[in-house]
Amino acid sequence: MTTDDKLLDGSRIAADIRDEVAERVDALKGRGITPRLDAVLVGDDPASKIYVGSKARTLAELGMVSETHLLPADTPQAELEALVDQLNADDAVDGILVQLPLPKHLDAHAILERIEPNKDVDGFHTSNVGLLQQGRPRLVPCTPAGVMEMLRREGIELKGSRAVVVGRSDIVGKPMALLLLHAHATVTVCHSRTRDLAAVCREADLLVAAAGSLALIGSDHVRDGAVVVDVGMHRVTDEATVRRLFGDNPKKMNAFSKRGSVLAGDVDFDAVAAKAGRITPVPGGVGPLTIAMLMSNTARAAEMRRGL
Ligand code: NAP
Repeated sequence: MTTDDKLLDGSRIAADIRDEVAERVDALKGRGITPRLDAVLVGDDPASKIYVGSKARTLAELGMVSETHLLPADTPQAELEALVDQLNADDAVDGILVQLPLPKHLDAHAILERIEPNKDVDGFHTSNVGLLQQGRPRLVPCTPAGVMEMLRREGIELKGSRAVVVGRSDIVGKPMALLLLHAHATVTVCHSRTRDLAAVCREADLLVAAAGSLALIGSDHVRDGAVVVDVGMHRVTDEATVRRLFGDNPKKMNAFSKRGSVLAGDVDFDAVAAKAGRITPVPGGVGPLTIAMLMSNTARAAEMRRGL
């Protein structure tokens, strides 16, 4: 089997999900409803601006409406809370997304907790977290929801399988583990204090890497035939690192010569692909699925608010 045959093509699956969302949006429009997502961006972090811009573009492509609220970096807590209150009360707004990270002086937990749970398209409110924990998901965090969609559409059997999730963040690792548990996998969650990470990972039929550590997962962490999902996302600009990771990969090396950087994940792709049964690339794996699920959650919020 070549590496191409093993690829889990997140871009293709995300395109399918977006097409399905566009159909749901058409159905909503037939009832006079145009789903609307309001994004709140505090400060001028360039990466956050790019994320919010690309979300807004995709919403427009699918026939939805978006509004971006740009606030200065020194916005006081009370002012941000007042904006969230206003969006909660606005019947035209279906989804609210507060782009993270927020500047340090702001209490992110208090802000996320203030969002009306039915408009919480990121699924970070404790009420949505609690429902997920109970196996009664309402709005589920987009990245793990996207991974589950990919696994389901690719027919990857989870029932009774051994799943290992590396990372225990509220945004990725923990909801990922819960979703896999509810899909009847036997789940182990690893973190920075896990002893002998490689040995634990080698037990996995499905390995999800969400540690935020470049190329942490090598061939030593993967048993033959395992499914490997790479959530990590790193822009690598250091030539020595690019050569170490992609020296034998002309496509990546060409991309680096052209742009001065390449994207890479938490998985040492070339080393692991030789052993894995299926594997997600970076880019073109989990990233597009995350945005597609945000689209789906926005349509879902619009449907739910009308009892549909
Ligand atoms: P995070 O909040 O920094 O959490 C990282 C988790 O990994 C923590 O639980 C940490 O353990 C664990 N960890 C760190 N180094 C480790 C190591 N050497 N061995 C074992 N565990 C380790 O990160 P996150 O928000 O979950 O994001 C993870 C990665 O996914 C990042 O690269 C991020 O950019 C990417 N991401 C991508 C998408 C996408 O759409 N593709 C979406 C979200 C995030 P402790 O808890 O012990 O500190």
